[in-house]
Amino acid sequence: MQVPAYVEYEKATSLTHALSLLAKFGPEARVLAGGHSLIPMMKLRLAQPETLIDINGLTELSYLDSTGTELRIGAMTRHAELLGSRLAGQHFPILHDAERVIADPVVRLWGTVGGSLCQADPSEDLSAAFAALEATMVIAGIEGKRTVPAREFHIGPYETVVGPGEILTEIKIALMPGGGSAYEKVGRRAGDWPVAAAGAAVWLEGNLIRTAGIGLTAVGAPQFAAREAEESLIGAPATQEAFARAGRLAAEHCRPVFDQRGPVEYKRHLASELTVRALRRAVERARG
Ligand SMILES: Cc1cc2nc3c(=O)[nH]c(=O)nc-3n(C[C@H](O)[C@H](O)[C@H](O)COP(=O)(O)OP(=O)(O)OC[C@H]3O[C@@H](n4cnc5c(N)ncnc54)[C@H](O)[C@@H]3O)c2cc1C
Repeated sequence: MQVPAYVEYEKATSLTHALSLLAKFGPEARVLAGGHSLIPMMKLRLAQPETLIDINGLTELSYLDSTGTELRIGAMTRHAELLGSRLAGQHFPILHDAERVIADPVVRLWGTVGGSLCQADPSEDLSAAFAALEATMVIAGIEGKRTVPAREFHIGPYETVVGPGEILTEIKIALMPGGGSAYEKVGRRAGDWPVAAAGAAVWLEGNLIRTAGIGLTAVGAPQFAAREAEESLIGAPATQEAFARAGRLAAEHCRPVFDQRGPVEYKRHLASELTVRALRRAVERARG
């Protein structure tokens, strides 16, 4: 049986407390959220923190609400809570589409939105959904808070801009009228990580696409975004031709790698096809 190495454990009672514990124990301390990624990595000795700062008691980071101009999601919101939120589903069905196919009910019950983003797995689903929605991340440190666009949050595989003494506290998404969004994923079996997945968010003016965001995961898209595909859509009529062109550009500009989930060409094909399907469904939803 694999067991983690010896580790100190501290239970934070507030955000301020968690930040002071991080400052006290230094860069070898790690935040523990749902533990669905961190604990297996510790068992495999891929992560060997000296101290775990448990933030599961931080109810102040567990919320889903609207300010009228933004949807705010606390970083400790569990996957199951995001999936169960009518508010999130009403404004951004892409989040429900993605959550429905993340792992299984056991993982969704305890795994958190913030933990998923901070783990920064290159096949992570919510990163693509938030990239499509051009969300903003709020990061707290001992000196105060800063905001970072979702598309600047990831530095590379398993790396984000969240520093050793910092905690991701919130994800914000602007509420704009005329929008629709959708997420399409292909996995090898139910509950598995994606072979490839695409998210689309569009805002229409009549039949023209005013703004479009496309997120891709598991196919090596820089910052989980398909920028060339997005640019091709802006100002274009919302037609099958436009979706197909965006799909081709998404496939052309991503960089999938061959692995146990499939060959490069298959993943490129999925990047294109899933982009088209996500766009089609997002536009249908925008039209109501
Ligand atoms: C069997 C299985 C299947 C899965 N399938 C999928 C899937 O299909 N798609 C998918 O996207 N994901 C999948 N996951 C991942 C799942 O979504 C986890 O919930 C997620 O990886 C980590 O969330 P967590 O809350 O458990 O974080 P943890 O494991 O507690 O933490 C992960 C990392 O993030 C850091 N961290 C956590 N929260 C914060 C914070 N607020 N601020 C700063 N750092 C923080 C931790 O220090 C750690 O380094 C799967 C996981 C399992 C176990």
